[in-house]
Amino acid sequence: MTDLSPEHASTLARLLAQVAAASAAEDLRAIGREALEKGGVVADLLASIPTLPPAERKGAGQAANRIKAELEAAIDARKRELEDGALLASRKVEGFDATLRAPRVERGALHPITQVVRELEDLFTSMGFEVLDGPEIELDWYNFEALNIPRDHPARDMQDTFRCDPAGELVLRTHTSPVQVRAMEKRRPPIRAIAPGKVFRQETTDASHEHTFHQMEGLVVDEDVSVGHLIHTMKTLLRGVFGKDIEVRLRPGYFPFVEPGFELDARCPFCKSGCSVCKQSTWIELLPCGMVHENVLRAGGIDPAKYSGFAFGLGLSRLVMLRYGIDDVRHLLSGDARFLRQFHRIG
Ligand SMILES: [Zn+2]
Repeated sequence: MTDLSPEHASTLARLLAQVAAASAAEDLRAIGREALEKGGVVADLLASIPTLPPAERKGAGQAANRIKAELEAAIDARKRELEDGALLASRKVEGFDATLRAPRVERGALHPITQVVRELEDLFTSMGFEVLDGPEIELDWYNFEALNIPRDHPARDMQDTFRCDPAGELVLRTHTSPVQVRAMEKRRPPIRAIAPGKVFRQETTDASHEHTFHQMEGLVVDEDVSVGHLIHTMKTLLRGVFGKDIEVRLRPGYFPFVEPGFELDARCPFCKSGCSVCKQSTWIELLPCGMVHENVLRAGGIDPAKYSGFAFGLGLSRLVMLRYGIDDVRHLLSGDARFLRQFHRIG
């Protein structure tokens, strides 16, 4: 690089110091003008060339170019610094600071009940079932009356019901079964539907009882539907949930909306000869089910002389507890992140 005379070197150093100290684009332009325009150090150097002895002309030209290049580079760099600073300052005013570390966003996951519901929905839709929804605040008619549970029926005492109005016409549904009647009102057979959802009972909460829990109703209505269809559907359900064939048995059970009614037990998936989950019996009570009572078919506007059907009420909370080995139903709705984190998976 061309050496500068002590005088030119000191001029350049002074100009660079001014550039570094400049706090506005306007100042930078003034410094540039001072050096490059007429009367400035660079312009003077260039203007002096013709008057110099030929041997010194080349050196003077190179010195002028060096001063010009260094000064312009310094002015450009300082200009960018000032612009960046102005941008940051304006963002700070708006509450944005690009230099701050971003807060860590925790990734959530689906609740274990939601995971199982989605699997069951996939399973049942693959068998041609519709997935239905129903109101959680239900009319007494759908929750009880249309399900063959009239007002004076003792079966009402089996479910401590939350009532929503003084007249008792509105209740928090105590089971998902009201969706059966709603489904039949709007559809003609063949009907194949499931209805997962929350249900509510005024129960003393303990490890196996909660005031809010999840059920999944199932309903099939068609010509010549038999208990065999019911058993096959339940075995398919269990294979889907536990990933293996599971033996089932039916015991007689009384539910006003089915006739005959059954309790369906599944062979304990966790043991061969008894364990704490099955209370050493090797059987687990899984769900109430049965053939839809003709009064319920009539309430849904369907002729029981022509059609028959089966229905089941799967205790989803219980099924999820069985599948994951959860020992207290209250964990499910506790909202405790330490509990829920155990079920993280992409879903
Ligand atoms: Zn067992």
